Amino acid sequence: MSELAYPYEAPASQALFDRAAAVTPGGVNSPVRAFRAVGGTPRFMVSGTGPYLTDADGREYVDLVCSWGPMILGHSHPEVIAAVQDAVSRGTSFGTPGEGEVALAEEMVARVAPLEQVRLVSSGTEATMSAIRLARGFTRRTKVIKFAGCYHGHVDSLLAAAGSGVATFALPDTPGVTGAQAGDTIVLPYNDLDAVREAFRAHPGEVACVITEASPGNMGVVPPADGFNQGLKDICSENGALYVSDEVMTGFRTSRAGWFGVDGVVPDLMTFGKVMGGGFPAAAFGGRADVMAHLAPAGPVYQAGTLSGNPVATAAGLAQLRLLDDAAYAKVDAVSKEIQGLVTGALTKEGVGHRLQTASNMFSVFFTDRPVRNYEDAKTQESFRFTAFFHSLLADGVYLPPSSFESWFVSTAHDERAVQRIADALPAAARAAAEATA
Ligand SMILES: *Cc1c(COP(=O)(O)O)cnc(C)c1O
Repeated sequence: MSELAYPYEAPASQALFDRAAAVTPGGVNSPVRAFRAVGGTPRFMVSGTGPYLTDADGREYVDLVCSWGPMILGHSHPEVIAAVQDAVSRGTSFGTPGEGEVALAEEMVARVAPLEQVRLVSSGTEATMSAIRLARGFTRRTKVIKFAGCYHGHVDSLLAAAGSGVATFALPDTPGVTGAQAGDTIVLPYNDLDAVREAFRAHPGEVACVITEASPGNMGVVPPADGFNQGLKDICSENGALYVSDEVMTGFRTSRAGWFGVDGVVPDLMTFGKVMGGGFPAAAFGGRADVMAHLAPAGPVYQAGTLSGNPVATAAGLAQLRLLDDAAYAKVDAVSKEIQGLVTGALTKEGVGHRLQTASNMFSVFFTDRPVRNYEDAKTQESFRFTAFFHSLLADGVYLPPSSFESWFVSTAHDERAVQRIADALPAAARAAAEATA
């Protein structure tokens, strides 16, 4: 890569990155943060306010990552911060039940009709891992069907053809996951119901569940084709398997009731994270009460967590959810549409072939002329154009996800000034994408 690819420096971030690399593998605590897909110095952020992040060099960016989705009200929302401060002042962890976790569960159950009961955990990974265990315990079956390009956290058995950071690094597989762990996972192409029917025919009575991102955002945004989710649900019902909808990313983001609020397909189990934690480690799984009744201590399937239902995290999540009314979603949807229009407009003007794909207010750009319906399609994109586009925007103060296999996220805090900054930065970025070579 030529030096011209990074026409600016970030010395304070680079110094921190060097320090980090000495004590942490690759200098980061989650791989995609390392900028390996796009090159250059990852920005170490020191503060966030509304739609903006400020890095260690004092540069401000319009944030189109929003912590990978959670910060749907923008950074440091005063009411969320006040709820957190109030909770902290009463103590940070008790290892006992508390009212905050009840209130958060009640809010979630009230919003999402198929969610009869929930169990709180601390990360999306834990949520999907536990949901799979419960599905297996409930059905007394072993096999799990997942889709290539769908990411469900770094659960051993689900790290087969996963998207997100795994897509970024094009790892076919990961060392450390045994054949036995991956062997009960059946990976199928996304948006292909025939492949699902065929898998059920090939493994009669063996499939515990199908797990899918409610609308995938971890291979870039690839929404389910009309009838795909309902088809999955129907096939599961016909075969005694559970339909597990992973709403860790879409939950309470794509609508008041997440993706369920968009397509209305009723899952047996659902998983949540990101938005429901209000920027703290809170996640959940839940669904049918008769299935959840199999969970300890009500039932035999074990699951637990020292910090599950943490009072500070639940206070943040509850405060955020309570602020997310219809008006808030209308605002996020509107600003998302506006930015989508600016992005396609700029790329079209420069003649850059691309597909902008959306799932309510989630969206991403694939540098390809073809529609992207699955992971194979997503991999046909010209990622080198994204790299040029990304670095041009970064230089002009717009922070995109540092990979072309990720959704972009906006918040209620993205106001006209923030949108204008994006609009000002886009023409040069589109030109850089047009001129980029592999
Ligand atoms: C982010 C994500 C996860 C994993 O959540 P973590 O909190 O990072 O463990 C699982 N599923 C989906 C769909 C996600 O987007």
